[in-house]
Amino acid sequence: MVETIASLLRRSAALASVSDTPRLDIEVLLGHVLQKSRTYLFTWPEHALSEDEYRLFEALFERRLRGEPVAHLTGSREFWSLSLSVSPATLIPRPDTELLVETALQLPLPESAKVIDLGTGTGAIALALACEQPAWQVVAVDAVDAAVILADTNRRQLGLLNVDIRQSDWFAALGDLRFDLVISNPPYIDSSDPHLQQGDVRFEPKSALVAEGRGLADLETIIQQAPVHLNNGGWLLLEHGWQQAQAVRELMQAAGFDRVETRQDLGGRDRATLGQWTDSA
Ligand code: GLN
Repeated sequence: MVETIASLLRRSAALASVSDTPRLDIEVLLGHVLQKSRTYLFTWPEHALSEDEYRLFEALFERRLRGEPVAHLTGSREFWSLSLSVSPATLIPRPDTELLVETALQLPLPESAKVIDLGTGTGAIALALACEQPAWQVVAVDAVDAAVILADTNRRQLGLLNVDIRQSDWFAALGDLRFDLVISNPPYIDSSDPHLQQGDVRFEPKSALVAEGRGLADLETIIQQAPVHLNNGGWLLLEHGWQQAQAVRELMQAAGFDRVETRQDLGGRDRATLGQWTDSA
């Protein structure tokens, strides 16, 4: 039987039990198989797939039915208008994290600001900032070797020369380097959170998602270590869980940060907190 774009799009109903976005998932998988845009799918619904294309679609559809994230099936994900390679070695970039990029771009930073992205994963935050601000010098670190390799692959694919990607467990390998902005989307989910048993997160590394101390341990480590790596007047900007804002503000205030405030994501949930560091006279 010949399968067309229209007939395969009708399979979205079967995905409803594993996905909140079944129709979009099929569109992305079909676009990936055919190497075509979504517009093409709507323009040519009667286009028939070749046998090879259909076999590939079928294999990806089966994996999606078993819960694998679409981004792992296509090997890429859009973030801040950049197409990034992804792998099971890192977190899949989330639209929520674009709030960090947006907030960073609004900060009063020097023309050629020195920025560090801690736990960069695919490199999403660092690469988006480097792309928007070519004069910034961005360092991006991750403790996981496979993430460092992936982030550097993304950097090369985007042709960005103002990003230096290195292996480091938070600040450990950075000596006494100082920055104007320390930015991070660290792991912040509590290990008992039922959300970890559902959807895409089941296929992402726990090391990128889960932290001790009700999810606050890595946020706290970064807040405590950041001051010695910040220039006078520099900023710390962190993503966190929507119920962690107050705890993060308190940790930042206790560590001596000023102008501490929380920003909301597109869903109106507390998602990022920032503070400014001033060296004491
Ligand atoms: N926001 C992600 C989620 O809830 C988690 C990201 C993270 O732990 N840094 O799935």
